[in-house]
Amino acid sequence: MSTPRIKVIIRCNRCGEKFTLRGRKDRGRVDTGFKQCLCSNDADFEIEEEPT
Ligand SMILES: [Zn+2]
Repeated sequence: MSTPRIKVIIRCNRCGEKFTLRGRKDRGRVDTGFKQCLCSNDADFEIEEEPT
């Protein structure tokens, strides 16, 4: 079984910073390795998924 690769756009709801990451979708969960924003926010994000 292969895990499809996707592009993930993460936008911080606190400072508005945007991050574009590559991730994998694993059983409905997106795994990007993203930990936190530059502003120390680690929970309040808007996440958008795009197929590559
Ligand atoms: Zn931020």
